[in-house]
Amino acid sequence: MAASFDPPIIKSDQASGYSGIQERSTPFHSFLEHSTLFLFPVVFLLNLHWASSVLYELELLWLLLLAVPLGIIGGDFLSGIVHWAADTYGSEETPLIGPSLVRPFRLHHLYPRDICTHGLVELTGNVCILAVPVLSASLYLLWLLPGSGLVAFFVACLSLTTAATVATNHFHMWAHQESPSRIARWLQRTRLVLEPNHHHEHHTQPFNMNYCITNGWLNPVLNRLKFFRRLEATLRLVGVETAKVKNPTAKY
Ligand SMILES: [Zn+2]
Ligand SMILES: [Zn+2]
Repeated sequence: MAASFDPPIIKSDQASGYSGIQERSTPFHSFLEHSTLFLFPVVFLLNLHWASSVLYELELLWLLLLAVPLGIIGGDFLSGIVHWAADTYGSEETPLIGPSLVRPFRLHHLYPRDICTHGLVELTGNVCILAVPVLSASLYLLWLLPGSGLVAFFVACLSLTTAATVATNHFHMWAHQESPSRIARWLQRTRLVLEPNHHHEHHTQPFNMNYCITNGWLNPVLNRLKFFRRLEATLRLVGVETAKVKNPTAKY
């Protein structure tokens, strides 16, 4: 009887979820990513401290208890809007947002595990580039209207929304990791961050649900309301057509 052996299993890049592509930022972009990553915690804490002080003076500090869930929900909603827009409109060639926004999301569907190879700067740098000017503007707002409880509450919510948004790619990466850390698994189980099985529904047919990727709290509501389909229909009325995107079938 002839000896038999199992042939080695060779996974193609797409089957494994990794592209093997290594992209590098330009020196200027890299400078922006690093500098804003350093500045983000500074402006975030300044905003939160200043807003809390105003609320404390006005004996409205309890409003922070409301600002925390609102800020997290705001971040989840923002992640859904950006993700849906990048999945649905434009192409990698679209000026400005094509290479920096559309391409990463489209590539993510083909190679979902690439995100697991990204470091801190790659995961959060682009979001910090946008978050730091926003939080600088809110500091200016606090300076302009120093005694306003409404402004202080708005700034507290905004600061927490930006923090949730900056953290989103980390939570998204954890959802794709084969062996996330203990703390990540606990946060996923408690649904404080994006739960993998919930997110994987986005990566399966018909690829048009669960766009929110901070913790996904809003996904059941937005799915039920057909929020994004209605938004697409509304935009179609004003002549904005969805892109013809080929749905990927890669594993996650
Ligand atoms: Zn997507
Ligand atoms: Zn994903």
